[in-house]
Amino acid sequence: MAADGEQMTDETSGEREELRALVGQLRTNIAARGRSGLLGVVLTPAALPKVERAKTTETASVPLLPPPPSLPLAPATMKPSEPQDDDRNPAAARGAPGLQLVREELGDCKRCKLCTTRTNIVFGVGNPDANLVFVGEAPGADEDAQGEPFVGKAGQLLTKMIEAMGYARGDVYICNVLKCRPPGNRNPEPDEVASCEPFLKKQLGAIRPRMIVALGKFAVQCLLRDDSPISRLRGNLRTYEGIPLMPTFHPAYLLRDPSKKKLAWDDLKAVNAALAKVGISPPRPPAP
Ligand code: URA
Repeated sequence: MAADGEQMTDETSGEREELRALVGQLRTNIAARGRSGLLGVVLTPAALPKVERAKTTETASVPLLPPPPSLPLAPATMKPSEPQDDDRNPAAARGAPGLQLVREELGDCKRCKLCTTRTNIVFGVGNPDANLVFVGEAPGADEDAQGEPFVGKAGQLLTKMIEAMGYARGDVYICNVLKCRPPGNRNPEPDEVASCEPFLKKQLGAIRPRMIVALGKFAVQCLLRDDSPISRLRGNLRTYEGIPLMPTFHPAYLLRDPSKKKLAWDDLKAVNAALAKVGISPPRPPAP
């Protein structure tokens, strides 16, 4: 008598045997893959689609990268200094010590070809406990020469934008998706993004800001894995690894098309308003 109370035929008995054998083989296969570390998806840089650079236009879209591996970032409601055990991130230290560990891990980076043409690694600058982080695309010539992000013409405009919000450069943190300059300011290539973005994630994991402002098509589309045009993405609050993220225009684009400055300023006022809702206001009164 079969377990279901019906007479088992030769046919169904044979099928069950076959099923049992298949399940057995499957279990053995999974166990072997688990032991050899082959379970899970492996992404090689060659498998990544090409990413175009933001410098030329703010309207065309960047082909999407695959979703980022999850990082131990705090939920938006968590205070930056709140302790949280996280054994996935050995560099789970916060603020300056956390950033220092990330910088040490980056070392004299030779993970991609940009190491052969760079002058300096441009890691990031500003307050390691900042509530507000600005993320750009990649260092340009001035940044490469000085080792500091956003120090050229676009950087001077960014500094004005930050000051108009009521902050000084030193109150916030500024960095880029790429830490080395692509030669001739060409677009970042997928293998370069794949090598460098993990360090941006770790920087943000150490700072745990309450808001990220992503500057320009490249940074926005890369962080959000969204190839919508920047003109549609800007001004709409999103999240990156649980942190609120405001997409806005890149200052270099605003230098080329000053008529868009008003929209960018609207975005930055919206950032101040969102931060005010969680009790964070700039140290100085913002511009009207
Ligand atoms: N453009 C960027 O995206 N980052 C810099 O640091 C400078 C210019």
